[in-house]
Amino acid sequence: MLHRAENTTTSKHYSLIMKLLVVHVTPKSFEQVLEKVKKLNKKAGPFDHICFIGNLEDDAYPKDVDTTGLPTLYLIGNNKINDCGENIISLNGFGLYECLDRLVIGYVTEDSKQLAASKNEVMELFKKTDAPVDLLITQEWSSGMSRLTGEFYGNDALDEVVSTAEPRYHISYGDNKHYCESASFQWDSTDRVSRFVNIADIDSKNKWAYAFNLNLEGSSQEGASDSQKLIENPYKLKPSKRKMSDGGDNKDIQTTQKKIKTILPSACHFCFTNGNFEDQMVISIGNFSYLTIVKGPLTTPRGEMNFSGHCLLIPIEHIPKLNVGQDDFANSDLVKEMGQYERSVAKMNYIKFDMSTIVFEINSERSIHFHKQIMPIPKFLIMKFKASLERHVNFNNERQTNNAKLNFEEYLIDSEDYLKIRNDSKMNYLQFTVYETSEAPAMVYIAKFQPDMRLDMQFGRRVVAFMLRLPKRIKWDSPVCHQTKEQETEETANFQKGYKEYDIIKS
Ligand SMILES: [Zn+2]
Repeated sequence: MLHRAENTTTSKHYSLIMKLLVVHVTPKSFEQVLEKVKKLNKKAGPFDHICFIGNLEDDAYPKDVDTTGLPTLYLIGNNKINDCGENIISLNGFGLYECLDRLVIGYVTEDSKQLAASKNEVMELFKKTDAPVDLLITQEWSSGMSRLTGEFYGNDALDEVVSTAEPRYHISYGDNKHYCESASFQWDSTDRVSRFVNIADIDSKNKWAYAFNLNLEGSSQEGASDSQKLIENPYKLKPSKRKMSDGGDNKDIQTTQKKIKTILPSACHFCFTNGNFEDQMVISIGNFSYLTIVKGPLTTPRGEMNFSGHCLLIPIEHIPKLNVGQDDFANSDLVKEMGQYERSVAKMNYIKFDMSTIVFEINSERSIHFHKQIMPIPKFLIMKFKASLERHVNFNNERQTNNAKLNFEEYLIDSEDYLKIRNDSKMNYLQFTVYETSEAPAMVYIAKFQPDMRLDMQFGRRVVAFMLRLPKRIKWDSPVCHQTKEQETEETANFQKGYKEYDIIKS
């Protein structure tokens, strides 16, 4: 039940900040509310989207609704309205609606009884989509929210929906007598910030309309500079959930660091000698390194590219970082070959698929087996790289107090200053390489760190996910990123087909 407005083109440029209005109607109040909304639209608008939520009944709904001067209206409520009129869309039950300007509305207008029956389907829908849900409208409250306020009955199934959707705004019409608004709270896995609002209906004496601005680009880490206003995530207060969240990022990092010395090539995922090595994923094998598709790709097929394009470039030798003090490292065959591979993929992305390329790598003596992540980026999005990097650096440095502080320096890939860092085997650093085109020399962004400091292992994916507006794909093991073995095999075959004429190893 994912509906998309027709003629959607991702390259079309719409304003990223939109004005929204949500009003709570009752069966007989629609015309009265519509008149008030028209006035509001003149006074406080114009709005980009207006949602009417609540209990609308088909037989009480007026004929010939005049929407002159108003944007598309959404009727989101308990019942489906047939023939609701031009420029009006009726949504009910549960589903996701992607508007022309990329705003994504999720809705669950079912009551507890209906939800008990459809819960699995609802969850499947919300789990499957990788579109970030901007606005989630539900009839009922989630249990998380009722625990927070202690006032209203909540539904457990909606906790799961909200935790999966991580909507920027969760708006409910379950309590028709009162208006309430929660402070913002954050999700660990994606850094997204959510806020809950319950709107009273027009017949109450309370606030029945809620107007707000939504910045589609601000989908993660909004409020990062304003930490006092964030409250603890109410969906994590359940004991069972807390247990799960303790297994998050930081623990991953700690265990990875502890395990380092004990992971031998025979157990390493990137070593051929590992008995479980997954060769259905290998794209090309050179003399010193190889290219493979990635488990749980961040990017998704786009345009002419019928595969995700996210790949890994890995030295065959089990080394934690590229430079471990090899003899004549700068002129070594490994460095030459990996450079050739990297440029050949960037060339394919650019020439064949009209894409720029970002390469991310962590050079740390505490890593297990060094690798570079190579990701295609639509050309029109590559200019967002610096802003995304800056945003995530600020977040890392100001909010994540346990993480190594990052300070990126910018170099041309063939500059002496950069090569000096790369050729020093004592250096530990994060690196992004940005190939805007495949001809001009790439730009390199480097942040050095002390190897005993904690690192955000997802940093590279976070920066790119933000550029592509794919917050749910930050972690490779998120359900939306999962691919079956068959899909992986197909991805590899499609990649090989596209890459054939660029492969540095001619078959
Ligand atoms: Zn290895």
